[in-house]
Amino acid sequence: MTAFWTEPDYDDHEIVHFVRDRDSGLTAIIAIHSTHLGPAAGGTRFWHYAEPKAAMRDALRLSRGMSYKNAMAGLPIGGGKAVILADEDGTKTEAMLAAFGKAVDGLGGRYVTAEDVGISPADMELVAQYTQHVSGLPVEEGDAGGDPGPFTAMGIFHGIKAAVAHKLGRDELDGVHVALQGTGSVGGGVARLLAKEGARLTVADIDTGRAKSLAKEVGGEAVAADAIMSTQCDVFSPNALGAILDEEGIARLDCSIVAGGANNQLARPEHGKLLADRGILYAPDYVINAGGIISVCLEYLCRTQGQPCDINEVRKRIAQIPDRLQSIWTKCDETGERPDVVADEMAQELIGRK
Ligand code: NAD
Repeated sequence: MTAFWTEPDYDDHEIVHFVRDRDSGLTAIIAIHSTHLGPAAGGTRFWHYAEPKAAMRDALRLSRGMSYKNAMAGLPIGGGKAVILADEDGTKTEAMLAAFGKAVDGLGGRYVTAEDVGISPADMELVAQYTQHVSGLPVEEGDAGGDPGPFTAMGIFHGIKAAVAHKLGRDELDGVHVALQGTGSVGGGVARLLAKEGARLTVADIDTGRAKSLAKEVGGEAVAADAIMSTQCDVFSPNALGAILDEEGIARLDCSIVAGGANNQLARPEHGKLLADRGILYAPDYVINAGGIISVCLEYLCRTQGQPCDINEVRKRIAQIPDRLQSIWTKCDETGERPDVVADEMAQELIGRK
């Protein structure tokens, strides 16, 4: 048997909890990658995995990603992630969520959870009945928190503007052509913000009705989901799935910039090199998509530590995302390094691992 800590995705995670509750049938993994900067924060994913190993891989990779994202966003929190292993039918019961809430509570605040794929705000409200270490809950208008999607979109919008200025030398988005993959909470929000500044938009979604209706709303064009990555454009913005930047995907790109919200866009680290070799500027995903976690974090600090709840503080911090991207690209220009490598090094230094 191989030791757990020789698994390729194990990255000196501080602690990994296996949760099992026989009465409710809950099986979960809570991975805490780093608490160097504060309690480990990251959402809970509810997903059916073909094999438990895949669930472990997700928990390990996503929790490390949260450490990097939270550190690069300048937040006083570490990185963690939970996955609940769903059965094939995706059976989710109140008893399971209650058991999960109790498990999170048992960690005494070392892990703070929120929504992720498969977990709704209503689910989180249920979890919150059993632990205070939860964020992403409904808030009063004008307060930090609530649905993170619009905040994520806002950060990506600012990041695209910064990338266009850096790569194309253009301070205005007027006429800049952006191809958006995914028209959900994040992609739709990005498209609306870009449209207001005169960008030309091409959008795609596997839900073609959704893509068409967004295209109509923003005065853009909808194309088939399998055509979006080869659309000739200035910016390709992935806002659907991760791992889309592999050999085949990168070869299809016809753009100068990749800047979008999907997590884990590079299928493997070496794909950052392929992108750079093609002269395409990359906005590291966990830097540009931090708007949501900024809101989630400030909501948590407001509720548990009485810190200011003002939504303007969230906006102020999101507006700093372009500066972080710019500092990465400047370092790349100076050293010849790649944005994904520079970002990883900066994040590792911030969490005390360099
Ligand atoms: P969402 O479910 O609201 O939207 C995703 C959209 O992508 C859906 O409309 C779906 O039909 C579409 N889609 C799926 N596969 C596709 C494909 N192959 N081609 C085209 N479209 C496809 O999700 P979201 O909240 O908008 O998140 C989008 C991405 O951003 C995810 O990768 C998520 O992990 C990441 N992200 C989201 C947030 C947030 O605050 N919501 C924060 C950080 C990162």
